Amino acid sequence: MTRTAYLNGEFLPLDEARIPVMDRGFLFADGIYEVAAVLGGKLVDNAAHLARLDRSLSEIGIRNPHSAQEWERLETELATRNGLTEGLVYIQVTRGVAERDFSFPKEDVAPTVMMFTQAKSIVANPLAEIGAKAITVPDLRWKRRDIKSVALLAQVIAKQQAAEAGAAEAFMVEDGVVTEGSSSSVFIVTKAGAIVTRPLSHALLPGITRAAVLALAAETGLAFEERLINARELTEAAEAFYTSASAFVMPVVEIDGHTLGDGRPGPVARRLRELYFAFAEGRRG
Ligand code: PMP
Repeated sequence: MTRTAYLNGEFLPLDEARIPVMDRGFLFADGIYEVAAVLGGKLVDNAAHLARLDRSLSEIGIRNPHSAQEWERLETELATRNGLTEGLVYIQVTRGVAERDFSFPKEDVAPTVMMFTQAKSIVANPLAEIGAKAITVPDLRWKRRDIKSVALLAQVIAKQQAAEAGAAEAFMVEDGVVTEGSSSSVFIVTKAGAIVTRPLSHALLPGITRAAVLALAAETGLAFEERLINARELTEAAEAFYTSASAFVMPVVEIDGHTLGDGRPGPVARRLRELYFAFAEGRRG
């Protein structure tokens, strides 16, 4: 089946979707993206993803071209056209096409709006059964990581280092503490049983899955703390896991070659993964 993309008001075959070389997304990574999961043909927790998109755009002064309702209609139509039952919808909005100049274009330029879908087995992911390996890498990014910018070179390098080490994720470390995964939020479970994740700030992306998992932990009476995680705590933890729209809750069984617990997905990560599935089923729009 031909994959269909969405570009500036049109649904068209993905390989016919073309963006001018003077697009500021291409020249400066001057744009924002968002990724939401689709489960059973429906978007998961999408209102939160669209609110984050709106905030990221507003933080860098790009006008949001659509209301949340319009976005959701376009995303749903794209998923339907691609016969997507399980996978991801990717949205990207750039500042648009203009003569190359670092400062914003003086004329009123229309943002470039692009979307595509990716089929992916999120629930029946074999990695979640055995647990993922992770490595730690230095966090090479800029200082506004709360903005979901398309400038992802540091994450590309981190993920490549992970791949070369046979790991699924890279946990980024700055000043001796963990910021987040290259494309996920990081959690540990201490030997005392507390679930720990870093508090939100400009240093990390406010993960939508992270927020849902913390709410589920609270509802279920699982103790958690939002505090900095020292990199040394990673290998001493009883469990670790990471969360994202594309992985949901992914148990981690090895970090930098150190096996966590008995080397199998831990009970807290497995429980939260199940709770998140139930939540995702109920939060499909
Ligand atoms: N941190 C970073 C750097 C990410 O790229 C992602 C994935 N977009 C996340 C955290 C997880 O966010 P979410 O749960 O909203 O997918």
